Amino acid sequence: MNTTRRNFLKHSTAAACAAVVLPAATSDRTTPKKVTKAELDGILDRPVLKLDFVTAPVVVESVELLRNGETYLLRTRARGGLEVVTVPHPVRMAHSYPTFLKSILPVFLGKDARTLEALLWEVYRHGSNYKMQGLALWPGVAAIEMALLELLGHAARRPLADFFGGAVRRDIPVYYASGNRGNTPEAEIEHLQKLVAGSGVRALKFRLGGRMSRNEDFPPGRTDRLVPLVRRTFGEGMTLYGDSNSSYDVAEGIRVGRLLEAHGYGFYEEPCPFDQLWETKEVADALTIPVAGGEQEYSLRNFQWMIEQRGVDIVQPDLHYGGGLIRATKVARMAAAAGMPVVPHMSGGGLGYVDVVQFAAFTPNIGPFMEFKGNAKFPVACDSSSLKCENGQVRCPTGPGWGLKVDPDFVRAAKPVTLA
Ligand SMILES: [Mg+2]
Repeated sequence: MNTTRRNFLKHSTAAACAAVVLPAATSDRTTPKKVTKAELDGILDRPVLKLDFVTAPVVVESVELLRNGETYLLRTRARGGLEVVTVPHPVRMAHSYPTFLKSILPVFLGKDARTLEALLWEVYRHGSNYKMQGLALWPGVAAIEMALLELLGHAARRPLADFFGGAVRRDIPVYYASGNRGNTPEAEIEHLQKLVAGSGVRALKFRLGGRMSRNEDFPPGRTDRLVPLVRRTFGEGMTLYGDSNSSYDVAEGIRVGRLLEAHGYGFYEEPCPFDQLWETKEVADALTIPVAGGEQEYSLRNFQWMIEQRGVDIVQPDLHYGGGLIRATKVARMAAAAGMPVVPHMSGGGLGYVDVVQFAAFTPNIGPFMEFKGNAKFPVACDSSSLKCENGQVRCPTGPGWGLKVDPDFVRAAKPVTLA
């Protein structure tokens, strides 16, 4: 382990988080420390959910998958008549709904929602579901998990955060991210300026390299010109992140990382192919800038390795791709034990942006800024938050469960999705 890197992390992440973490004594959480596999095993084995305030069974009577346009919905009823509507990941559900209906859903029907964590293990073993680990399995598990959490939230009249130990913040600072590549640095600057105009955001992310491109830039020379140009344009007050989407080998990854360091960037995401955990670690060890990764990762054991070995400095589980909030919380708690922050990846579509805001509200070792794409394509009502970025932050809803309601007319117009 590079001691320079450890010292840098200690100071930079602690300072960054001090601005947003409410309790004064939490800065130690981001001080890197050595953890053992046994400690991390313990975190993986311990239940996450706090359920003592749900005093009666909440039996899952029915779950219907519905679709209205590109939006998928789950309408879940408990015995006794309680009904909730939640929003799965739209693109992933479109790809994998037969698996959801045949292989995931049956595990949860007729069960007490309070046994959710045990059911997550059952669904992984059910049939040969574990053979589908990845996008075929986990977004569907996340969908049913979110439905059961919503049921529990409404049954107990408690916000989602209470099931994860309680909210530690309510206003979540966000960053905006550009999805562009292939344009000139000047065109990208213009795009970034429009993106952040009027939002009040104090952080932004843009793309480096060529995306899974074996060191090729897109177009050639863009990254080397863009990195200093973004800093010059937005000044020292803006926190800047660069995401290479698996573009580089070790040597090029380190070279680009040094460029980011020279211009004071906040983190460097996915320098190497995402499943090249070892090369990613080599890059991270060589640099002082924190390296972030994990958006494609669905194995808790791989996360465990990344954390124990400090293969990255910031973990980025996706709340849908990785199987839901409970699994992401296990990742966050392992990271906390190692003094690392978590910055969840935000998959677009559906209500992914609200899921990230909720997760940030109850996760003590969350990073200073969350990705935000407030882009629901359907009507959602919320009386405790505008769900919009205001002054660079988004207010987390406080009502029961997710604290929002999909428009009943939109739900009524949705058609059931069934197996042919
Ligand atoms: Mg990324």
